[in-house]
Amino acid sequence: MTTGESSSSPSSSSKRGCGDSNIGGFHKKPRTDSSPNVSVTSHAIDSDRIFVDFPKSLVNALNIALDSLMDESTWMGYISLTPLKILNSNATDCHEGYRFSKAYCSSEKYPTQYSFGSVFIKGLSILIEFILHRTIPENKQDKFVLGKLLHFLSDSLDTDAEALKNMEMYTETELNTVVTNHLFAKLSTSTLFTIDKQLSKSKCRGNERRGYLNGKPWCPCEQNECLLSGDYGDTSIGNWMVWHGSVDVVINHDVIIVSQDNEDENCCHGDKPPAETKSSVLRRNHQIIAQNIVFSFLQKHRHPESDNFLIPCIGITREDIIVYLYDSVHDVLLESSLLPLQGMVSSPGNKLNLVAVLVSWLVVNYKYLCGGVMEEMKTTKAEFFSQAKEKLSIYETYLKSGDVRNTRPTVDSGDQVKNLHHPLLIDLKKRNKLVVLEPRE
Ligand SMILES: [Zn+2]
Repeated sequence: MTTGESSSSPSSSSKRGCGDSNIGGFHKKPRTDSSPNVSVTSHAIDSDRIFVDFPKSLVNALNIALDSLMDESTWMGYISLTPLKILNSNATDCHEGYRFSKAYCSSEKYPTQYSFGSVFIKGLSILIEFILHRTIPENKQDKFVLGKLLHFLSDSLDTDAEALKNMEMYTETELNTVVTNHLFAKLSTSTLFTIDKQLSKSKCRGNERRGYLNGKPWCPCEQNECLLSGDYGDTSIGNWMVWHGSVDVVINHDVIIVSQDNEDENCCHGDKPPAETKSSVLRRNHQIIAQNIVFSFLQKHRHPESDNFLIPCIGITREDIIVYLYDSVHDVLLESSLLPLQGMVSSPGNKLNLVAVLVSWLVVNYKYLCGGVMEEMKTTKAEFFSQAKEKLSIYETYLKSGDVRNTRPTVDSGDQVKNLHHPLLIDLKKRNKLVVLEPRE
């Protein structure tokens, strides 16, 4: 940051651009006028013009959207994080472990809420500095990440918002593909993603374009020659002895996306369910929590050098997104508010929710923008460690990404061992080629 300043508690709030010097807990210099400072500092010399040319109207819209992530008194809807405590689960229940589709993980909320921004202080600091002062991060990585958001909003928002406009036209299979291709991957430092290859065979609309063009698969949206920046592949994670299975989408090996079809859970025979129950499928969702926990342990094992291990997972329906975050070091599980994909704060010309865009940007780039759990969050344990019991070591050490079928155990512990036979004996028995010699006379 060229003018970065120290931050304090993110829980307090204020309005930027109203002469207040405290911004959602970030103490800033008082502003001298109500519009963003469009003069570029001497530190802003760079070949990418987006930091200079980014429209003022979008700066103002971002400024408003930011309040939802930091200010509980905002008029447009406050996006919070609520710690969850796991009450019961089948994380260790059976010999071979349950697939995600059969995962059971009931939970309850702690009576505590944090602003969504409280775990993304670094990302919000970068954005606020840009909004207030057009400050460009000195760190090239931070600059690149900020540029992804600015380019998305400035260059492709209308096109992508068009693809995300009529979500009811997509099947559940197509849903995660389109949202990833037109939102999450566009905001990520890498646009590469992998869709569960089994989904390529799932039910699709009759008019869905199939196959590849120039080595890239078609996007299910109906925009002219729209191709995916990702591809189909193996997205399995876990271990056969615990929770395991294929997730819907993995973005650049960093973030998993899980879609849920509201109609499966809440179909009312043609009657439209009330808005509140319509999206409840995403709240305290057993399968999404299981996938988040497994992926979090996996990421900790793969990247032990990380600064923090608060790993996100995004759940989506046709209407909303939700974010879960699990820290496998401190055993903390957080669930966000529901975020509508349309409405709340939008730019002229489309209805894509800018708050959802901001949250997506923070989450898919969590490696650079997330600061991890706050100190006080560490007291609200998810209690997964006690749920996992003796199989915690499998979650800690033996999870796998890809080809999870080959984690199937040949020998297990406990009573099961008594009934096992040497694999060679089983093989010989199957082949039935033992030659029985006649006794010698
Ligand atoms: Zn498309």
